[in-house]
Amino acid sequence: MGEGDQTVVDVVETLSAGRDLAGVAGIAFRRNGRARVNEARPLIKDLDALPLPARDLLPISKYRALKVPCTVITSRGCPFGCIFCSAPRMFGRGVRYRSPKLVVDEIEMINRELGFQEINIVDDTFTVKESHVEAICQGIRDRGLDITWSVYSRVDTISPRVLNTMKEAGCTWVCFGLESGSQKILDTIKKRITTAKSREGVKMATESGLNVLASFILGLPGEDRETASQTVGLAKELFDTYKVSYGFHLLAPMPGTEVRERAGEYGIRILTHDWSKYNANRPVAETTTFTAGQMMEIVNDYEHEVSEAWEEMQKQARRGDPALRERVAKADTQGFVWKLLSTGAIEQLGNPGRSQDELALAAARKLGVSAALARREIKRLVSDGNLVRAVVDGRKHPVWKWA
Ligand code: SF4
Repeated sequence: MGEGDQTVVDVVETLSAGRDLAGVAGIAFRRNGRARVNEARPLIKDLDALPLPARDLLPISKYRALKVPCTVITSRGCPFGCIFCSAPRMFGRGVRYRSPKLVVDEIEMINRELGFQEINIVDDTFTVKESHVEAICQGIRDRGLDITWSVYSRVDTISPRVLNTMKEAGCTWVCFGLESGSQKILDTIKKRITTAKSREGVKMATESGLNVLASFILGLPGEDRETASQTVGLAKELFDTYKVSYGFHLLAPMPGTEVRERAGEYGIRILTHDWSKYNANRPVAETTTFTAGQMMEIVNDYEHEVSEAWEEMQKQARRGDPALRERVAKADTQGFVWKLLSTGAIEQLGNPGRSQDELALAAARKLGVSAALARREIKRLVSDGNLVRAVVDGRKHPVWKWA
């Protein structure tokens, strides 16, 4: 429960030494069929005292091959108290900052040693403290790092100055939790922003040359047909005006959030306690005035529009639009690599003695993709050094494997 960094070490040491888990702060466990909840573990005061994530223990070539950004944390905690959000419960309302120098050291290592060009800063709200943002941006610029990065932010914790600084240091995307197009709902969920502020923040970020992703939640307390259409309306308005990308999530009232603890007062009906369904993509709760079915109608319309827009982008890419060609090519790469990874194709097909071309053709057959795509992508994986031929387990002939 809460931050796991020290708890997990304590659990392993306790079990290894044959001691009782009852003494480990920050866990709940089952004994004789009954749940036992231990005392909470205090939050870690000094984040700089934590070692860097042991990324060297991960099959890092698979992440690189998939062209996903590498995640970094520069702070923990969020001073806001949105009623649907588990972040303040996990990490507290006081923000704890890592030293900017150590953050930039880590980013440099990810860039220069692990070969990532994209970073996703996953702080709950990166832009709470301007001096922290500026110090990190300055560090990235001073070291000449060849990276682009993205952050989560709020429309009321930004200024043209800080956004320009971020842009100059390689920031390309900002994600704002706008949540709703209804002021009544924004007030209920204690978001402490207005719809006018949302418009102003998005305008400011796009004027600084940043791409904006706007995130909305359907099914918040008080949701009905009218508020849902205000939300969809705001999303479309921001797209039409500023080319903002947007997405809808569905309320997932996690344990510990105010919206779950006071669900009755907020008019929220919880539909399932199966946590595996709490991914915010399918309804697990509804309001007394907006059903799960109504939410899915909006999501289905949205998904339909997204797939139509994607088909149009693919057409334009084929006609030669360079930016779209790059985007479509990246999606093709990610789709192919994801299939390779999720089917374990390299492990199954990387037989000793198989040439690169034979591997590509076998992968094309297994994954149901064209030979041309498989050849191009396997060639790229090899030239990027993510796929190698190596002798393993004392075998005579080399096999194909992830680097
Ligand atoms: S939604 Fe964002 S701003 Fe609100 S509490 Fe969660 S992390 Fe903080």
